[in-house]
Formats: sequence, C-alpha cells, structure tokens
Amino acid sequence: MKKMLAAVFHRKGDSGGEVTLEHVDIPEIKAIDDVLIEVKAVGICGTDMKIMEGGHPATDNTILGHEFCGIVKEVGEDVVDLKIGDKVVVDPNLKCGVCTPCRCGNESQCEYLATGQTLGVYRNGGYAKYCVVPRNAIYTLPKSIELTEAVLVEPLSCAIHCHNLADVKECDNVVILGAGSMGLIIESVIRKHPINQLIMVEPMQYRIEKALDLGADHVINPKTENVVNRLMELTDGIGANVVIDAVGISATFEMALKIWAKGAKLILFGQDSRASGILKPNDIVRWERKIFGSFISTGEDYLTAINLIKTHSIEVNKLITHTFPLDRLISDGFRVMKEKKCIKVRIIP
Ligand SMILES: [Zn+2]
Ligand SMILES: [Zn+2]
Repeated sequence: MKKMLAAVFHRKGDSGGEVTLEHVDIPEIKAIDDVLIEVKAVGICGTDMKIMEGGHPATDNTILGHEFCGIVKEVGEDVVDLKIGDKVVVDPNLKCGVCTPCRCGNESQCEYLATGQTLGVYRNGGYAKYCVVPRNAIYTLPKSIELTEAVLVEPLSCAIHCHNLADVKECDNVVILGAGSMGLIIESVIRKHPINQLIMVEPMQYRIEKALDLGADHVINPKTENVVNRLMELTDGIGANVVIDAVGISATFEMALKIWAKGAKLILFGQDSRASGILKPNDIVRWERKIFGSFISTGEDYLTAINLIKTHSIEVNKLITHTFPLDRLISDGFRVMKEKKCIKVRIIP
C-alpha cells in the first residue's frame, strides 16, 4: 500500500498527548458518498494545541488538521456533482442534515455532530497529503480562488456566524475581548461594517499591533490600563453595545459583565469548559440585555466565507502570517503557535 506523511495524535491518558509525523497508508474511498481529497493547504487551529495540552476529548491515533482545502482526486459512485480536479473546501464539523436542529436550520446544534464527528479531531483530518471526506462536508470553490487562501474559509465561517449574531449597528461601540487568531478574524469581519468604534482588549504586544493594523480604533491593554475606566472614557460613559468574548475564560466573562451597555448584546465565542461566572438576572431584565452563544458555523456561513475570500473583501494575506511544509508542522508550526506570535499558520502537505 502507498504511504503518505501525516501528523497523528497519540493520547496519553487525560493529560493530552503528542503529535508525531509518520508514514501511514493513503486512505481509500469506502462509502458510496466518499470523496478522496488531495489536501493543498491546512491551517493550524488553537484547538490542535488544546488537544495536545489536555482537556480535549480528541480520539487517539487520529490524523489532526480540521481547516483544510484541496482538490478532488476520486469520488464514490453516488457522487455525481463533483469532478476530478475540482477545488474544494471541507467543513470538518460533519452535520447530519436530518436531526431536528438541522431541519430547523440550526446545524451547529446538530445531534450527530455532538456525538464527536469532527474531521481532524475525532476522525482523520487534513495534516496529510490525502483525506477521505463525505460529500456533504464539501463545498466547491470558484476557480478564481487560490487554494492557499481558502484555508481561511473554516475559521472565517465561524467569525461570520458570530458576526451575524452580533448584528452590529452604525451607532454601536463594539468590543472584542482577546486578539488571538479568532478575535482578529472576527475583527476583520466586523470592520467591514460602519460602526461607531471597534475596541479590542488584549495584553500581548504582537497581538495589539495586529489588532491596530487590521483596523481597531483602540486597543486596551488590561495589564497596564483599567479596562472599565478606559472604555467608559472612550465611549462617553456608555460602555460596549456589543461585547464579543473571543477568549471564553471566567475573567473575560466577568469583564464583559462590567463593560456592557444598557441594551447590549454579549456574544460568547471562546470556549473553555472550566469557565464560570455570576450573572444577576435583573441586570439583563432591567436593561434588556441579550446573551448569545456562537458555536462553529452553518452552510450559509460557509458560502459567505467563500464569497468574502473570492471578492478579496478580507485581507487574507494579513491574516495568514506563516506558511510551512508539513514536515515542519511540529518544529515550526506548533512552535510559532506556542510563542503566540502568529495569526493563522498555514501548512502545505
Ligand atoms: Zn479550528
Ligand atoms: Zn443534524
């Protein structure tokens, strides 16, 4: 059997595990709706780092990499609408389309997905030359899109999902807590709309500079400034009309509840199962505030993301800060992720 280089996760109990580069069998089509994709680019996600550090239930011996795109190499007999050579991007979060949430248009709440079906996390993903993917997880890309740019479609679709929930208005002071990779991608999407002010809260110098470069009006450094005082100063005592928590820890949740304006929307985007906080119901009732959870994305978000990249409406080249071949995934890709001096790191298998 022919072999390919792949990055495989090996679990070590509950404390995470290790990713190693190894030569594994090239996967083959098994089901009639399977598609064999030659992976052309795959993005490193913070989730990959979490899987290795522990606290994430990813499957042992799985090829990681869930943000990937490529070209169709072979299709199962039921796949009639894809041709060999088509450019495609994958939605790794396999949704069934037939459960009640899916049928109600809430695919990110899919009951099948909730059983652990994400490619590159629970099933083999894109840190490899080839990957077999079911047809319904595939979106075809316009010919004019560069595959190396389409690597941003997955995270961008999640940012679009968040942005749709935020439903920003021209008079809004929008505050994003955290300028990590997702905070900055969300910033890029929000920035496309006329709003009053876009303010980020971020302590790391590298990320502060990136946030300003991508168009933040102000970045508040919580290490050197009092966030509440500075924000009230910047907003004439109003506070944040929209708060997006792109971190998701207890401290950012508490911060959100200190800075949200009357009638504000709070979008919880960052995820950490250990986070908790105290919410006073009357703070919501009395000032008609709203809280939303934003989790992954829908098919419509995918189509929007593809379109934003196709029309060059998003500064892809500012968001992709590093590119490495697959054999440097661990030595360089994971290294820059750990140093936190990157936005999106792209791997070319
Ligand atoms: Zn991801
Ligand atoms: Zn479903």
